[in-house]
Amino acid sequence: MRKTICILPGDGIGPEIMAQARKVLERVGARQGCGFSCTEALIGGAAIDTTGGPLPEATVAACRAADAVLLGAVGGPRWDTIDPAIRPERGLLGIRKALGLFANLRPARLFPQLRRACFLRPDIVAGGLDVMVVRELTGGAYFGEPRGVELRDGVRVGYNTMIYDEHEVARIARVAFETAMRRSRRLCSVDKANVLDVSRLWREVVVEVARDYPEVELAHMYVDNAAMQLVRDPAQFDVLVTENLFGDILSDEAGCITGSIGMLPSASLGEGGPGLYEPIHGSAPDIAGQDKANPLATILSVAMMLRHSLDMPGAADAVEAAVSAVLDEGWRTGDIREEGCRLAGCEKMGDLVAEKL
Ligand code: NAD
Repeated sequence: MRKTICILPGDGIGPEIMAQARKVLERVGARQGCGFSCTEALIGGAAIDTTGGPLPEATVAACRAADAVLLGAVGGPRWDTIDPAIRPERGLLGIRKALGLFANLRPARLFPQLRRACFLRPDIVAGGLDVMVVRELTGGAYFGEPRGVELRDGVRVGYNTMIYDEHEVARIARVAFETAMRRSRRLCSVDKANVLDVSRLWREVVVEVARDYPEVELAHMYVDNAAMQLVRDPAQFDVLVTENLFGDILSDEAGCITGSIGMLPSASLGEGGPGLYEPIHGSAPDIAGQDKANPLATILSVAMMLRHSLDMPGAADAVEAAVSAVLDEGWRTGDIREEGCRLAGCEKMGDLVAEKL
């Protein structure tokens, strides 16, 4: 049966990178003799402009009906000053919630070809860098109530609530332990248990879940130390698991280390239902519409989608190999350019990867 993919291009560079991902997907479908049915729907600023809200019901329905969802990016200065309740980012948070996507897998892998683009000293990354950040996605401060900005005794006060119940912690911990089982069986849980009550519960529950995974070596680290260790000695980590806000920051940090957030894919998974695949970067309004965006994070998100939602691991390997082959030939987008490289725009990079398939 033809697999259905719901495509959400979004804003800024979203439509540009998505066009390349789609090109690659179509090529994969043709090579594998399966083909995909792609539907397109609105999200973020593009949806606000058309429907007045960042996540139309039709988009939620189209996503739910699909086998997988592929998202570009949302947001931009144009919508920065509108009512916070309908900002583009609300669309993103809303679709994650609507699909019950509580686990975000963010591989931060340094392609050997991009070693020179890496921000760390060569001796620090000599052992390679391949960290999987498992970020909780539907809880914590981004969703916790109460929240708001109000006037208290004539003073403006803003507040959010970082809140988790034990079931939310246990289910993300299980995803992390399962992920560690498929890798080198080392898991580091990141929290702030020396200060935050919510982190103390987090740690307690992770330790409880660990009893079901005796083969996995579990460590705990405070988030400030983890941020430091990621740049001091990233090779010490294999799988990191952490809550939403810490994971947002740490996965961006891990991405930066690898040379470019333009190279980093992600998968968001729930309990059954379609997974959502997207690059970790935003809509990059500073380069939107200039054919400068790196489409590889989105193309690598296609590979994750083939592997995790479409049961096509061979096709996933082929896409990753195609990206690697293009890098081998010296092709680079502006964000990962280096001396002597062959500079490609967004579209050219998409063509090159598709040709390799
Ligand atoms: P950003 O990730 O969009 O950009 C940060 C920097 O990285 C910019 O200099 C940008 O040019 C560069 N960059 C990002 N992706 C790139 C790519 N594929 N190729 C080359 N360079 C790339 O983050 P920001 O500037 O903080 O946010 C811009 C907008 O995106 C904001 O409205 C923000 O809310 C939104 N945002 C959306 C998402 C998402 O949709 N998942 C994530 C983060 C930020």
